[in-house]
Amino acid sequence: MSDRFFPNPMPEFVPETTPSTPQEEQEAVTVTHGDSLSKLLAMPHAPLSQRLKRAALDLKETIVIETWGFTGQQVEDFTLYCGLMGTAFLLFKSYQVTHNANDLTLCSQIVKACDAASVASRDVTFICGRAGVCALGAVVAKHGGDGDSLRYYLSQFEKIKLSKNLPDELLYGRVGFLWACLFLNKHLSEDTIPSTYTRAVVDEIIKNGRAMGRKGICPLMFEWYGEKYWGAAHGLAGIMHVLMDMELKPDELEDVRCTLKYMIRNRFPSGNYPASEEDRKRDALVHWCHGAPGVVLTLVKAAKVFGDKEFVDAAAEAAEVIWNRGLLKRVGICHGISGNAYVFLALYQITGNVKYLYRAKAFACFLLDRAHKLISEGEMHGGDRPYSLFEGKGGMAYLFLDMIDPSLSKFPAYEL
Ligand SMILES: [Zn+2]
Repeated sequence: MSDRFFPNPMPEFVPETTPSTPQEEQEAVTVTHGDSLSKLLAMPHAPLSQRLKRAALDLKETIVIETWGFTGQQVEDFTLYCGLMGTAFLLFKSYQVTHNANDLTLCSQIVKACDAASVASRDVTFICGRAGVCALGAVVAKHGGDGDSLRYYLSQFEKIKLSKNLPDELLYGRVGFLWACLFLNKHLSEDTIPSTYTRAVVDEIIKNGRAMGRKGICPLMFEWYGEKYWGAAHGLAGIMHVLMDMELKPDELEDVRCTLKYMIRNRFPSGNYPASEEDRKRDALVHWCHGAPGVVLTLVKAAKVFGDKEFVDAAAEAAEVIWNRGLLKRVGICHGISGNAYVFLALYQITGNVKYLYRAKAFACFLLDRAHKLISEGEMHGGDRPYSLFEGKGGMAYLFLDMIDPSLSKFPAYEL
């Protein structure tokens, strides 16, 4: 057995049961031990989503206690990736689903503490830097009707300076900052961060990409710490994903399209994608950060932007790899089962094919049924930061909340 993933024990497809009598309805929602996973897979959407919601809200309480209560409200790591902003982002999601005002209040208290802790940070992105704190702070203030805080966070956002030697990737670089601008414009108003400002950042990214790219082959390429990554976290998939949300000139859009086609032409025979240009022989990683899952989310977006069927077909092929090798021995969204479930949700949204909805549900049910047990038995890694959004159970809670209405789900801090 691979040490990275569990062989997928679940059937290719299980139709939902549709109970016709009250007794059948009761049976459908009663999970007895023994074959509890099979029962969950056949459960109708309404009771399953109630069950996932309850698990998510319980988990949220635990996460708040572990990351905020027990620490005496001290901020050791403020980032959304592995720190307290992840708890805040989960609370904001919970507020959006349940409209519980306590979640919003607690969220804004945590963001305030993260604001104080990050004021001297030189990291500028949504996921790992200051922009995440200021952007979420502003959006939460707007929802809470707190005009003073809204103005404060926006003024802090405007103070963020991008250094000349910043990388271009998502976690620490320019597109990670642009994503924060997009988040503000989506949740506040379209011109909160004017396009004249973001345009200068896009210019820089395109210039860097073309300098390292090869015209006619792969027109855009980027480096992070000396390696030309392909994945969502540090490489091409993440950079192309954010660029497609920006207003691009026709020649820039064409470069994005050709870069994605290059990736499809040079993927592994399995349908998976290399982690980097330098690592083109090792078909090993099936993560959002490195490998097919992050690339699929970008291909699904490309299918919408370019209306080209080849992008959906490549995404569907990669989804087979994720179904077979994506049941990772980790829970999180960066390199865990929760993140990989989002691939099926994205494919369900663009194709309407219930096979993908089932597969997302299957990954979520696997976690619901087994994650706690597998982690406590040491069969599954609970994450170095076990309650964090990107590496720990925070991601699992977020996925469960997104399963309530799968047609609206979005990979946290990545799909807009
Ligand atoms: Zn990762």
